[in-house]
Amino acid sequence: MFDEMNRRAFLKQTAQTALAGAVVGGLPAFAEEEPPTTQPAVEWRNKQPTMGYAKFGRANFMTSRCVFGAGGLYKGGGGPTRLLEVAIERGVNYIDTGRPYAGSEAAIAPVMKRHRDKVWIVSKAGHIGWPDMRIKPGQDAEAAKLYTDQLEESLRDLQVDTIDCYMVQGVEHDWVVTMDSLYEAFCKARDAGKVRFFGLATHTNVSRVCELAAESKRYDVVMPAVNPNSLAELAPAIRKMHEAGIGVVSMKTSGPITRDPKVYDEHYKQMFAGQDLSPFQRAYAYMLFRGNIDAFNSHCPNVQILDENLKVPTLKFSQAELDRLEPQVLTDARGACHHCGACTAACPEGIRVADLLRARAYTHTYGDPDLAAQIYRQAGRSPSVACTACGTCRAACPESIDLPSIVGCRL
Ligand code: SF4
Ligand code: SF4
Repeated sequence: MFDEMNRRAFLKQTAQTALAGAVVGGLPAFAEEEPPTTQPAVEWRNKQPTMGYAKFGRANFMTSRCVFGAGGLYKGGGGPTRLLEVAIERGVNYIDTGRPYAGSEAAIAPVMKRHRDKVWIVSKAGHIGWPDMRIKPGQDAEAAKLYTDQLEESLRDLQVDTIDCYMVQGVEHDWVVTMDSLYEAFCKARDAGKVRFFGLATHTNVSRVCELAAESKRYDVVMPAVNPNSLAELAPAIRKMHEAGIGVVSMKTSGPITRDPKVYDEHYKQMFAGQDLSPFQRAYAYMLFRGNIDAFNSHCPNVQILDENLKVPTLKFSQAELDRLEPQVLTDARGACHHCGACTAACPEGIRVADLLRARAYTHTYGDPDLAAQIYRQAGRSPSVACTACGTCRAACPESIDLPSIVGCRL
């Protein structure tokens, strides 16, 4: 029932969008594209008093400010899926998954069957960019085919008729952001009622990719990797994306929090009206309430972390408390990766150093070594074996992160 209604609403909106965008004889020139002038009505799903919501760009969807990252739900069994059910009970209405998280879409399909009308489902086409960067400049037709084929696979595995937003995953090059064939593939799928909105996710060369996405006026949703340590650098691009009507969801939001969080707990409790917050909650809160992002994508491998994450959008801070929060959060996040990609570009062995750093975060920060190992298997290589410990990546890193010692680790 929902899918049928959703498809009808979508088709109406598509007609309005096509008129507003003046798509005549194929795609309009990149520089001439304008965002739709007719906004769809505000869309609410699964509104609960236990969640905070924000209007999500020109999509006009009221998104839960905590997004459930379902990439880790590939293992099967009742436990992980139950976590997603709890999240929906608590008001989450945005679920993020992707083809490269092999098995995630199939794992959450039964939940989709029960709750499709309560959630936005967002998935991603891999391999154009991350994890194995199959597409080279000029391979536009191959890129479009990858997008279209994976969208069909996602629809099949999720067992839905329409996906709310289908992203290109792990975009790090200008020419991917502006590739006409990809946008054309999206428009075709949108016109067929298979997808509603276009998006990209980026965790390398993030500032540049976000700026270009805003200028292109093609994207409805962008998910950049950003943490409190890299926020100032990305702030102008975030502003531009909002001006372009793009909904912004952060990922890798906390950065690596490595110090003993207990040391300052009593101190923090006094600072924030007795609220007993973990360093992760403080980082997410800072990004939501000072960072100008609409929502944060959170990896929830167990009940305790899920509970912590779900509380963040409902936290209340005075302006004075937010002022006090800032230096604490920036201290917690010092040395965190900016997702600039300089280390990967510098490595003489061609090792994707920044990718390895992220995999390490899955293992040590998010507590999910299986997911780290799985995404690296998909990349079809074992970069740690080839590292010669030359130190070039560390020298290139603006944060002087000790990358050789991390890259040298076997996951
Ligand atoms: S230390 Fe290893 S990863 Fe870093 S630049 Fe040298 S070979 Fe590449
Ligand atoms: S050079 Fe440093 S800051 Fe940039 S992506 Fe690599 S680790 Fe992150």
